[in-house]
Amino acid sequence: MAVKTITLLGSTGSIGVNTLRVIADHPDRFRVVALVAGSNGQQLIEQARRFRPEVVAIHQETQAEQVRSALAGSGCLVLSGTTGVMEAAAWATAQLVVSAIVGAAGLQPTLAAIRAGKHIALANKECLVMAGPLFMAEVTRQGVGVIPVDSEHSAIFQVLCNGRCGAEQGGVLALHGQDVGQLVLTASGGPFRGWSRAALQRVTPAMALSHPSWQMGKKISIDSATLMNKGLEVIEAFYLFGVGGEQIQVVIHPESIVHSMVAYRDGSVLAQLGVPDMRTPIAVALAWPERITTTVPTLNLAQLGELRFFDKPEERDFPCLELAYRALRQGGAATTVLNAANEVAVAAFLAEKIGFLDIPCLVEWCLDQHQRETSGPAGMGSLEDILQTDRATRRQAEAWLLRH
Ligand code: NDP
Repeated sequence: MAVKTITLLGSTGSIGVNTLRVIADHPDRFRVVALVAGSNGQQLIEQARRFRPEVVAIHQETQAEQVRSALAGSGCLVLSGTTGVMEAAAWATAQLVVSAIVGAAGLQPTLAAIRAGKHIALANKECLVMAGPLFMAEVTRQGVGVIPVDSEHSAIFQVLCNGRCGAEQGGVLALHGQDVGQLVLTASGGPFRGWSRAALQRVTPAMALSHPSWQMGKKISIDSATLMNKGLEVIEAFYLFGVGGEQIQVVIHPESIVHSMVAYRDGSVLAQLGVPDMRTPIAVALAWPERITTTVPTLNLAQLGELRFFDKPEERDFPCLELAYRALRQGGAATTVLNAANEVAVAAFLAEKIGFLDIPCLVEWCLDQHQRETSGPAGMGSLEDILQTDRATRRQAEAWLLRH
C-alpha cells in the first residue's frame, strides 16, 4: 500500500488534533510532511517530535525562536510568519493538504496548496464563503480534488459519490445530472435551541462555548450557537456542489446523528449517519476513495431510541442563518462581507465587548452598507479585490463597535 503524504494546516486546533489522532492510528498509510500552526509553539514542538515532519511553520514570529531551538538538530526545517506558512502549505512532497486553519487566515495558504497541485481535505469553510468562485476556479484550473471535512458536506459528498462523482480521480466535486432536488443540511440547533429572545440577550461567551454534541474551536462554537455556522455551511454547499441556494435546506436535528441528506427528484432521500465525532469525516477525507478503521464507536440506533427533526428556528431569534441566505442572493462580494463582519463580531463577543444578539446586528449592518456602496452583484473579483473587501469590512465593523 502506497503511503499518502500529508500537510496539516492548523495542526494545533481541534480539527488538527483530531486529524493527527486518525493519522497516528495508521502509520502504514499516512506520513505527515508538514505541520502549520498559528501561535501555539509548545504544542507544535510536541507534534513535530512525535510525527517527525520535514517542515513546520508557525505564523506568530514571537514563537518561532522557541520552536527553532527545540527542534534544532532534529532535521526538521522551521519556518515562520506569513511567508513561512505559505511555503509550508505548498510543500513539494505533500500529496494531500488538510486545510484546518480557522477563519480568513486559511484562504491564502489553501490557495497556495491548490496552486501547487495538492489535493485538499477542506475543513476551513470560511475560504469558500470569502472567495468561493475564485477558489473553485483555481481547483478546476489545477485539476485537484476537494474532499470536504465538514461533517454535513462529507455526508453529502459520500452520498453523491456513491459510485458517481469524480473527486477520487483528482477531479472537481460536481453534482451529476438534474436528479438532485435538495441538499438537506442538518443542524443540532446549538446550545440555545428553543430559547426566547429575552433569554438569548443574557447569553455569555462561556454559555455559548459549550456545544451539546461537538467539541470544537472557539470561533465555530460561537458560530454554531448563533446558527451562523449553518449559514456558512449553506454557502459552502452552494460552491462545493454547484446547486442553487434555494435547493439547500436546513433542518434541526438535535441528536446530530444524521449528518445530512440528499433528496432526489424521484422521491428517494439518502442520508449518512454516524456518532458525532469529527474523526469519521476526517478519516473519509484522508483515505478517500478507500475507507479506514477508526476508534469512533459504531452507531447503535436501538440504544439511541429516537431521532428528532424540526423546522429551522424563527428568523427573529436566530437571524444569522437568514443573513447567510441573503448574502448569497445579494451576490458579488456579499459573502466576503458576511464572513469578515462575522469574524469581527465573534471576536468582540468573545472579548465581552458586545452581547450575543449584537452579532447578527453587526453583520446585517455591514451587509446593508455593502449593498448601498455597490451598484449590483458584479463578481467577487480578483484575490486582491477580495482581500480589499475583507479589510474594508473589518474597518467598518470596528468603527461600528466603537459606536456601540
Ligand atoms: P481551532 O480554533 O481549534 O484551531 C484553529 C487552528 O488554526 C489552530 O491550529 C491555530 O493555531 C491555527 N491558526 C489560526 N490562525 C492562524 C494563522 N494565521 N496561520 C496559521 N495557523 C493559524 O479551530 P477548529 O479546529 O475548530 O476549526 C478549524 C476550521 O475547521 C474552521 O474553519 C472551522 O469552521 C472548520 N471546522 C471545524 C470543525 C470542528 O469540529 N472543530 C467542524 C467542521 C469544520 P494556534 O492554535 O497555534 O494559534
